[in-house]
Amino acid sequence: MKRTFGKGAHKCKRCGRSGAVYTRYNLYLCRRCFRELAPKLGFKKYN
Ligand SMILES: [Zn+2]
Repeated sequence: MKRTFGKGAHKCKRCGRSGAVYTRYNLYLCRRCFRELAPKLGFKKYN
């Protein structure tokens, strides 16, 4: 089996966890951190 997900593997720059990391706005935050920081960053629509 091929696991080539490493291509876009990023780490959360806040907690260092890899996985579902948002790279959209060059945030590089995992879901959790994104949810926490989103309001501060002005993102309110993340559902
Ligand atoms: Zn995080």
